[in-house]
Amino acid sequence: MKTVFHSRHIWRVVAAGCFLAAAVGLTAPLVAHEALALTEANLRWHAPSKSITVTFLGKQEKETAVLDLRKAAVLDTEISIQSDATTIHLLSGKAIRMSFAVGKDSKTVTSRLKFAGGDKPALLFNDKEDSALHEKWIEVLASKEPNLTIELENATIATVKFDPKSIEEMGEGVRGIAVEPASAPPDSAAEPTAHTDAAGDLLHEISPAQLRASAAAFASAVKHKCNKCLGKGKVVVKVQYATRQEGQTIKKLFRDETRTCEVCKGAGYLRASDESLYRSAAVFVRNLAEVKRDDPGTQDALSSAYKMITDVMIGDYKTWMLLTDTGKSILVLPSAVEGTSVFSKVVVKRILPKVAGKRQFIVEIDGIDKQVQVSDPVIADEIESGTALMGGLITAGKKGDAITVLERGFLIAPPINHVYWWWYGPRPRR
Ligand SMILES: [Zn+2]
Repeated sequence: MKTVFHSRHIWRVVAAGCFLAAAVGLTAPLVAHEALALTEANLRWHAPSKSITVTFLGKQEKETAVLDLRKAAVLDTEISIQSDATTIHLLSGKAIRMSFAVGKDSKTVTSRLKFAGGDKPALLFNDKEDSALHEKWIEVLASKEPNLTIELENATIATVKFDPKSIEEMGEGVRGIAVEPASAPPDSAAEPTAHTDAAGDLLHEISPAQLRASAAAFASAVKHKCNKCLGKGKVVVKVQYATRQEGQTIKKLFRDETRTCEVCKGAGYLRASDESLYRSAAVFVRNLAEVKRDDPGTQDALSSAYKMITDVMIGDYKTWMLLTDTGKSILVLPSAVEGTSVFSKVVVKRILPKVAGKRQFIVEIDGIDKQVQVSDPVIADEIESGTALMGGLITAGKKGDAITVLERGFLIAPPINHVYWWWYGPRPRR
């Protein structure tokens, strides 16, 4: 397996949008990424690179949240699932399914699953084993199926936490699990040695398809078709309008009536919560920072990312305000938290000489007296001055002055639609 991303700073990128999830420890063991299988379903989950938790990127409506775990990695560990799901299903391939009823009335409940193997195989749900499921669990252990799938039925929110204690008990020599001492200095944690197994490679070297998927997920969080009315804004309901006596029985008479859809209030489209939107934007920008640069599909994926940024991040007023206001409130703080993803309207002040072939810009945050160095942007317009939208991950505060460094993000000033010039500002003349 090859090692990817030589820049140490990238390994220090910790929790995209972590200010929204302050509970996520910055020095937690490297666990969640190791436990996740490389599947499409997992793109819906946000897993900061050093976090022991993964969070489902839901869309407000109830749905089945699917998380694929590597069986080898989670064996002999315990996970806790915090969710408003009504049922938790554990699947091994298509053949084996075990179900646990957890809650009702959309209450958030924490459940624990322990996957014991070895000489005392058992599947414990909240510390108890259902004897009816014992045989099935033995089958799961024997099966060649590499993944264990968790399905959370009727969920809008879900966080899965991997228990670092169970994982530490496994000791060394268990492939795929890297435990980093909580006290490790950031620089030693930054070395990618723990990430050179299959999961690490792919999770940290984002494919063009993954970048596209995260851009599409963000755009869809901003605006997605209402499931209830399928985008029509109206639903047809059967309404009783009369009764008719037919011999001994009374027959109810119904007719179709068109009503405004109560889910989307007639709009036909829905928007995710601000928190969920910001998480989704953070996932996109992290993927942008970690996309494979030498893949033949990357150029196309970047073009579509550029289009999404222009149309959705700049072109949608509410989204623009959410991203840039949040960005400003992060950047106004005296010390920037590494790994935080930020977006901001900026004024390009200077272009610095390239460092090792990488472009460097000095920009000023609109409305506050703060300068940021944008280093090696993945997407950048040929701008020399004037207004632009900046996005990326905070990687470091420069010593000795107030400049914050944003690495491998984007800095774009697209020709803009006249409809939204009033919040974005006209493109400057050269
Ligand atoms: Zn609707």
